[in-house]
Amino acid sequence: MAKNSKIDITNQFTYHLNHTLAENKDFSTTLQKFFALSYSIRDIVAEKWLRTEEIIHQRKDLRIVNYLSMEFLIGRLLYNNILNLQVEDEVKALLKKFDLDLDKIALLEEDAALGNGGLGRLAACFLDSLATLGYLSYGYTIRYQYGLFKQTIENGFQKEMPDDWLKNGYPWEFPKPEEAVTVKFFGRSEPYTDEKGNIRFKWVDTYDILAVPYDIYITGYNSDIVSVLRLWHPKAINEFNFAEFEKGNYEKAVYEKNLAETLCKVLYPNDAFYQGRELRLKQEHFFVSAALQDIIRRHKRRFGNDLSNLHESEVIQLNDTHPALAIPELMRILLDEEGYGWDDAWNIVKNTIAYTNHTVMPEALEKWEAPLLQNLLPRHYQIIEEINARFLKEVGEKFNNNLKKIIDMSIFEEGNIKKVRMANLSSVVSFSINGVSELHTEILKKSVLKDFYEMYPEKFNNKTNGVTQRRWLLECNPPLAKLITESIGNGWITNLYELRKLETFLNDSEFLKKLAEAKRWNKERLANYIREKLDISVDPSTLFDIQVKRIHEYKRQLLNVLHIIHLYNEILDGKKPEVPRTFIFAGKSAPGYRMAKLIIKLINSVAEVVNRNPIVNKHLKVVFIPNYNVSAAQIIIPAANISEQISTAGTEASGTGNMKFMINGALTLGTLDGANIEILEEVGEENIFIFGLKAEEIEEARRKGIYNPFGIYLENEKIRKVLDMIRGGYFTPNEPELFVDIYESLLYGKHAPMPDQYFLLADFESYEKAHKDVEKLYLNQEEWNKKSLLNIARSGKFSSDRTIEEYVRDIWKTKKVD
Ligand SMILES: *Cc1c(COP(=O)(O)O)cnc(C)c1O
Repeated sequence: MAKNSKIDITNQFTYHLNHTLAENKDFSTTLQKFFALSYSIRDIVAEKWLRTEEIIHQRKDLRIVNYLSMEFLIGRLLYNNILNLQVEDEVKALLKKFDLDLDKIALLEEDAALGNGGLGRLAACFLDSLATLGYLSYGYTIRYQYGLFKQTIENGFQKEMPDDWLKNGYPWEFPKPEEAVTVKFFGRSEPYTDEKGNIRFKWVDTYDILAVPYDIYITGYNSDIVSVLRLWHPKAINEFNFAEFEKGNYEKAVYEKNLAETLCKVLYPNDAFYQGRELRLKQEHFFVSAALQDIIRRHKRRFGNDLSNLHESEVIQLNDTHPALAIPELMRILLDEEGYGWDDAWNIVKNTIAYTNHTVMPEALEKWEAPLLQNLLPRHYQIIEEINARFLKEVGEKFNNNLKKIIDMSIFEEGNIKKVRMANLSSVVSFSINGVSELHTEILKKSVLKDFYEMYPEKFNNKTNGVTQRRWLLECNPPLAKLITESIGNGWITNLYELRKLETFLNDSEFLKKLAEAKRWNKERLANYIREKLDISVDPSTLFDIQVKRIHEYKRQLLNVLHIIHLYNEILDGKKPEVPRTFIFAGKSAPGYRMAKLIIKLINSVAEVVNRNPIVNKHLKVVFIPNYNVSAAQIIIPAANISEQISTAGTEASGTGNMKFMINGALTLGTLDGANIEILEEVGEENIFIFGLKAEEIEEARRKGIYNPFGIYLENEKIRKVLDMIRGGYFTPNEPELFVDIYESLLYGKHAPMPDQYFLLADFESYEKAHKDVEKLYLNQEEWNKKSLLNIARSGKFSSDRTIEEYVRDIWKTKKVD
């Protein structure tokens, strides 16, 4: 039985099957039993929420953390909840009576894919850590009707299918229609004079829609506290506007209904790429406005109508700039609805909101066209103008009216079309600005936000990302978790630094053998998965070299492919490698990202040629696993011997995939980028394979314009051969021109700011050398296993528990419930 719970899962299971679902145990389907089981577990979760809610109202000394994020990539919850509630034995005993298998039944749950990649998964790990550590927290986002698309591969090309994750109903959400709030759009800002003679503004003639919350309670491990993930669902207030209809405005008559219906339809499938779409701006305002009204309502329930201590009772973390409209929205509520003056409102807002930056790449920074924002949110636009005017006055005073500083730091970018720079807005207002790895924070301070660093150095801090070991070890790697717990106890589940104790087994060959057996089990599980999904057989005794993440040019899946083609050439030249290898890829491309989609096709075309060749396929196989998501990651990552983290130095803000691999005993083959640098620091240079140019070297080559990939192509025969094969249609003889754009982007900079903008050719030799070192080490399995053990033992820093404790200490300044 779950700790502090009177709920008997076995009784509840029968109750829910018979009464909630009105089904008989003999005639019900496995899916119905999945729901009955989920409802039974949910009963315990709901109890924990009731306790958490009590604490929220009793403990007024606890500041509540509000994590605003366009994405929460939570994955499946059934098994995660069973583990966190520590009821696995009870559930397994129950299922045995019905001749059911937990592993199979858990697969019936749809992944809640309410995110693209790392940013959304980070938000999910944070809620797990917040609940486990005992902090009061809310996550806010949109209840997207379709999650990230499902990817299939047809003829080697990515095809996108809708992800209708709610089609069977979703067992973990609780609708709370009575807590709905109204969100306004369009209209105009109307000035008036209040009874004290002050000029004030009213936002009038708006289109209004309802935001209805659906709550998912995120359990912590062995914790009585849950985090609340509040998903906002739009609903029309007025299905039909007769007044507009009478005036002949037929479109306006149904506008609100249409807006409500389209608002939550899609999650934009872009990762680290900005697209200035009006619907996206509406989505951002929709969930941010709903979240703020919710936060203020909660504050009033706890403290009464006075909001002057809002910044002491609540803190708002912006997960990138996507929720940055929280700034003008909170100002607007305080000024227009609560009657505060500018200075008092400003003081509350600037002490409530903190900003996490996630990227330094210009194509990912949000810049809204001013007319778009002004039309959709006229009052917010006016507030942003006022914030900017006051800020630029301060800049002028600080920097002696230096015009360049004023132009660069202004929230508005002047030009043909004026734009609103959301990173500038967030930096001006937030009391904290953090990057997500040490290198990334340094780059923010030195380049992207350097003027803001000069002005407000005290705002800047680093919070290196982390991942929850509950999902990324305990849940996804049963044999390794068991081995660790048998060896050092289960303290690591809530304190990952305890893994250090594993170092005592470094020279224990019995232990190393068991470690290798756990890896073997995971590799067999993945081999079975690949056989089922793709009908390809891969040999678990080969080295599994894995690169799984969103497909993006900066992540350099193409560099990996170039190297694989080179290995293929060597084998055909009679240079047989000493270690047979299986290269595994997975990842989605944004549907509109031509080059990334072409790279997926190239991987699949190379895979076909390699896997079909009887001489080559004894040494080399290539597999692209479709539909990478959290559940796929949980099968793929534990099976890796090598983790490929090969982004161009200075481009990957942190990475979290790198951490998941390390915790599961893979050795990293990577560049000095993002958190790879900190992995190197923890594990030591003998236990990682580092290659490639450093961030400063890349920056310098870019700045001076001295990089010449064509020169490398001419000089380096291996590279020339590989590129000529791609150019010449070697892998797609029926369509010989298919990959010309890849060749031309590397050598001529076609569709790009410069040739080979991510420095693949510059890093190729060093990458090849690192692969040779990998091969050599793998021949000595004992040494390999030691290094794998050291990677696990030294991964303690990369728990999101550590990250959350740092946010609490430096930014959120709150306390645990106990
Ligand atoms: C961890 C994770 C990511 C992030 O991976 P990176 O290698 O850090 O880009 C993306 N997608 C899923 C499904 C993940 O679990």
